[in-house]
Amino acid sequence: MKLIVENSALPFQLTQEILKNFPSYQLIEDYEDFKWNIDREEDLITLGKKVLFITHFKGDFIKPCPGTQNYLCCGYQIFHIGEGCPLDCSYCILQLYLNRPGLKIWGNLLEDGLEKLKSHLREHKNKRKILRIGTGEFTDSLALEGITHISEKLINFWREESPFGVLELKTKVALKEEFFQRLKGDPRVIFAWSINTEKIIHSEERGTASLRARLESAKHAIKYGFSVAFHFDPIILYERASEEYPALLETILNNFPNERIAWISFGTLRFPKSLKEIAQKRCPSTQIYTEEFIEGLDQKRRYFIDQRKKLYLSFKKWIEESKEFVTYYFCMESERIWKEVLGEDIQSSENLAEKLDKAALRLCSFS
Ligand code: SF4
Repeated sequence: MKLIVENSALPFQLTQEILKNFPSYQLIEDYEDFKWNIDREEDLITLGKKVLFITHFKGDFIKPCPGTQNYLCCGYQIFHIGEGCPLDCSYCILQLYLNRPGLKIWGNLLEDGLEKLKSHLREHKNKRKILRIGTGEFTDSLALEGITHISEKLINFWREESPFGVLELKTKVALKEEFFQRLKGDPRVIFAWSINTEKIIHSEERGTASLRARLESAKHAIKYGFSVAFHFDPIILYERASEEYPALLETILNNFPNERIAWISFGTLRFPKSLKEIAQKRCPSTQIYTEEFIEGLDQKRRYFIDQRKKLYLSFKKWIEESKEFVTYYFCMESERIWKEVLGEDIQSSENLAEKLDKAALRLCSFS
């Protein structure tokens, strides 16, 4: 991995800590002026996955999850720790961020970012308004942890601040037991794995951990006092999908204490039209764009509603058996899917947020 540091990011603590383990790096004035000297878009994205920039971030450290128009969204907030991902999924939306190649982390995260987070948490604590915050929206929360230790610092920060809220760290990497041994468990911290079937992991999620390694990691998280979550997202249509996805849910429910699972979400494949071309160029063996799609209310391509419903209904037996302990939700789905699959009247994003707030409150009561 090549490391490039903005001059103005140099004095900050996180930059200095990372540099201790990087004897050689390049100093630049400004990320925005950096010249890549590469023509093809697909090569630029691939090269960007091997170049880490430490920059001085001047934007918003806390922002609402971008969600999607006209579908129900859970009201989650993002603590913005960086952009870009060294892993390489064929459906990754970050492939469209062509004007922002490279992996970026913010040198000033500990000084400026944590300061913002602290006041945000305190404000909500005073109002007794539960917060759900996560870091894995524009990057994988833990893929660069071996270099940055950002999640470790955040977990310690969470314990010290003791906020009225939960922190969700979404990832597709494996975490060894030794990683958790260094930490003090906190049920308000949720290690969340995006989960998929072996077939899809193997064919569409390059560089990510195997299914088995993700589930092993989740076991360690529970052993050391954290909560876990699983996101079946994106669920991808293929010949045995309606058997293999629910079998995976069954495995999870049978192997984890259900009360330690914060939530499980489901979302079928959806993507902006322009992603298909770039993804097919970058991942020639991908099969996921060959289905027929409709254009959803948010202008994203998705499966026909009957296909989505069939996939979701395949989970129903397991959902029914465990819903007393586990909170289930759909990511970016319509009221109709909620009603016809789960029999739940979720008519607005506020209804969905309330449901997840309740689950988050339960975790806070364990701490
Ligand atoms: S792990 Fe997430 S952020 Fe990383 S490439 Fe895959 S979809 Fe994109």
